[in-house]
Amino acid sequence: MERKKNFFAGPSVLPVEVLEQLRDQMVEYDNKGLSMIEASHRGGLFEDMYDECLALFRELLRVPEDYDLYFLGGGATLQFSMIPMNFLRPDTVADYIKSGSWAGKAASDAEKIGKVNYYYDGSANHFSSLPKASEVKPSKNSSYLYLCSNETIGGIEWQDFPDTGDVPLIADMSSDIFSRPVPVEKFSMIYGGVQKNLGPAGATFIIMKKSLLERQNPNLTSYLDYSTHSKNKGLFNTPPVFSIWGVKLVLDWIKKNGGVEGMHKRAVEKSAIIYDVIDGSSFFRSPVDPTFRSRMNIVFRLPSEDLEKKFVSEATKEGMLGLKGHRSVGGLRSSLYNALPKEDVLYLAQFMKDFERKNG
Ligand SMILES: *Cc1c(COP(=O)(O)O)cnc(C)c1O
Repeated sequence: MERKKNFFAGPSVLPVEVLEQLRDQMVEYDNKGLSMIEASHRGGLFEDMYDECLALFRELLRVPEDYDLYFLGGGATLQFSMIPMNFLRPDTVADYIKSGSWAGKAASDAEKIGKVNYYYDGSANHFSSLPKASEVKPSKNSSYLYLCSNETIGGIEWQDFPDTGDVPLIADMSSDIFSRPVPVEKFSMIYGGVQKNLGPAGATFIIMKKSLLERQNPNLTSYLDYSTHSKNKGLFNTPPVFSIWGVKLVLDWIKKNGGVEGMHKRAVEKSAIIYDVIDGSSFFRSPVDPTFRSRMNIVFRLPSEDLEKKFVSEATKEGMLGLKGHRSVGGLRSSLYNALPKEDVLYLAQFMKDFERKNG
């Protein structure tokens, strides 16, 4: 097989060796006479793998002991509701930093539950910039401050994070988790879908400071209540078994390749290859404030929409997939997640230069 060069934003590229391990062990896992996806989630076969997955996750991301770690279903999107249901108390506000589509969706769900304060709203600058982390101070009566560490659609990423004191800081890290070290202690909650940088779609990781549960709404139905999952390390109901298995294998791969520091180095190198092409030309244009450019999702424009269409169609012929921008914003986007080989990024960079030469 000739592998496509996969720039999809999610689900997205996985390490070939993980795919091969899933294939090789699909029918029989570890000489046990059955597949991982046929085994009970209450039995050793799954639970041993699950415990290893959680331990590896904790080790690599340096998640402290006083944080819960588990996986839920429902995608990152379910968390847009669960967070305000659990933590947005009456007579308070929740501060949201509206940095783009994903934080915007989270905030509009929170508005259905309680009072949202748009601490920052990037609509006016078309979500091309972010507030300075050191200047962010939550409102006095704030239940929590919410941000999205990397806007997958807008291509904008926090480079460091605010200090919110006693007000819990909550972050959606769906699209840049494990691409760099994270100061977990600054956050009360970090969550994200695994399908961008961590594995096959299906699971959402939840990292939550145990003390956050003291501030929780006690009147929720069982699944929607984080304390249910905290007590059961995420095994209250059937977890997304296949997805978690894939995450375990991806974490093994990350560990072998230098951990989060290794991934960070790769991300810096790979993104610089594309940003250098953009900055060295007047043909390509980045709409994002250079201070906050994403290393995972690089958004760029060409002089016209016709040229953008042509770019995507010629790139597709060359085996490069997923370069069309999100339908809500147009333009072009190349997602450079951990598993994307550097050679594919170099290939894209060369293609961009050739395209400019022929069409510029
Ligand atoms: C993809 C994405 C989501 C949505 O994830 P689902 O698992 O599809 O619900 C939320 N936030 C960010 C930052 C994303 O990239």
